[in-house]
Amino acid sequence: MDIEAPGGTLNVACPHCHTANRVPAHRLGDAPKCGTCSRALFEGHPAELAEADFDRHLARTELPVVVDFWAPWCGPCRTMAPVFERAARELEPQVRLVKVNTDAAQSLAARLDIRGIPTFAILERCREVARISGAMGLTRFVDWVRANV
Ligand SMILES: [Zn+2]
Repeated sequence: MDIEAPGGTLNVACPHCHTANRVPAHRLGDAPKCGTCSRALFEGHPAELAEADFDRHLARTELPVVVDFWAPWCGPCRTMAPVFERAARELEPQVRLVKVNTDAAQSLAARLDIRGIPTFAILERCREVARISGAMGLTRFVDWVRANV
């Protein structure tokens, strides 16, 4: 008997406690919950990641992660906030969307060479695969993500 799930299992870090959860790929859309804190692994909106949690979260996530590097004083970042929010509803659970406030995560932004904001980066298993900067509409943004994951 074949007991292996089609597509295997993926590590998905909890957006709340950052514990790694193993989720069968075909169950990603079934509202999986964190085995540690019992909260939903996907809530249809971006997770805020503090600098201290970023590497841990990325290392424990085998889904593509789209990072919004933003800051509160940045007008185009405020324009993009609702776009990113809606993109999370469209793209989860195949993709994890997270936000990083570059004012609070300055050494992380320097390490990843974030030169302007908003900048969006797609990382797969901690390796950056694409990056784009500036404000854009929802369709263009979602198309850009789908073209790169
Ligand atoms: Zn959790």
